[in-house]
Amino acid sequence: MNSFADELNRRLVDLREQNLFRELRRVDSPQGVRIEFGGQAFLNFSSNDYLGLANHPALKAAAIRAVEKFGAGAGASRLVCGSLAPLHELEEAFAAFKQTEAALTFSTGYATAVGTITALLGKDDVIILDKLVHASIVDAARLSGAKIRVFAHNDLDDLEAKLKWANLAKTESGKRKAEILVATESIFSMDGDAAPLREIVALKEKYGAWLMVDEAHATGVTGKHGRGLASELGVGNRIEIQMGTLGKALGASGGYICGSRALVDFLINRARSFIFSTAPVPAAAAAAAAGIQLVQSVEGERLRKELYAHIGEFNSKLKTQNSKLGSAIVPLILGDEERAVAAAAKLREQNIFVPAIRYPTVARGAARLRLTFSAGHLPADIAELVRALKTLDLGL
Ligand SMILES: *Cc1c(COP(=O)(O)O)cnc(C)c1O
Repeated sequence: MNSFADELNRRLVDLREQNLFRELRRVDSPQGVRIEFGGQAFLNFSSNDYLGLANHPALKAAAIRAVEKFGAGAGASRLVCGSLAPLHELEEAFAAFKQTEAALTFSTGYATAVGTITALLGKDDVIILDKLVHASIVDAARLSGAKIRVFAHNDLDDLEAKLKWANLAKTESGKRKAEILVATESIFSMDGDAAPLREIVALKEKYGAWLMVDEAHATGVTGKHGRGLASELGVGNRIEIQMGTLGKALGASGGYICGSRALVDFLINRARSFIFSTAPVPAAAAAAAAGIQLVQSVEGERLRKELYAHIGEFNSKLKTQNSKLGSAIVPLILGDEERAVAAAAKLREQNIFVPAIRYPTVARGAARLRLTFSAGHLPADIAELVRALKTLDLGL
């Protein structure tokens, strides 16, 4: 037992030496633009709750109603003990929102990626990933056993080269023909930039590949009614698999797949993270359904306007050049891990909470402050952030 702890402690020392050690900070308030750590209030620029829905009265009321009617727990996997109504309501709302035939919800976005990719691909298939896709997709690709190829971030020429290779490598295996799946995000989680989805769709069609697009950071914030980038660019119905999370702009928790009825029926039968896992609790599904309703409402429109006004104001005051249209994520890339950790600590001294994002979330030497904005911020909060950032020696 002692040698086990000693070994882990050695590894932890190693992480500290590389400025890669992480720890949990207990929050004694709801998630929002102001959060409380250890009795102190902080202005929060770290959350993916872009529209401030995580603590919104409409979502809380929906969750409470679901608890009162359907209870706290989910009982078992949906295939075992029956499938609770709030999950079906959520899926119907999602398919209507994304304008797809069907939708399926999972307990997390991570479980969605893992379940879906491993259901669709096996060792004879090829998966081609954008260099910056989320860890859930990377892990899913590895677990699937498919051959993995990575194309340079948003680089269409490199994607085409990988598609050509995959087409040649495609062997007719005994039972069925090998498939090629391209996977990318629409708005990238750590850089906030957008994928050239129209061009990617054209390429995957040219080579007869399938496409999976993770809209985790676009759903609720990007495009008309917050439907996401695929819908905004008019290519939603040409993407085989749309995925995302209910835990970001939608203010709740869980993951989703949107696509054809056949895709959803297949995943119900084959996605192991769906089959072998207890269903999401009714409260989470009901809160997410309320979130979907809210993002499409007049209030949702107003919240997105406020969010983008904050980002516009921030960009007009600081020369970051990193913020892209249609995204709530503004990275300040500092490179060195120690520099990012020190900058985040200095901001905390001024009661501003911004995470230092480091390896393995981003590449080594690409450490950054990842600023995320929320509709719930006030203009004075943006001014406060700008003031604090200017006190740091970051050349802003
Ligand atoms: C957060 C995130 C996920 C995982 O979703 P969870 O619901 O948090 O598990 C998947 N993909 C991307 C791009 C994400 O940012």
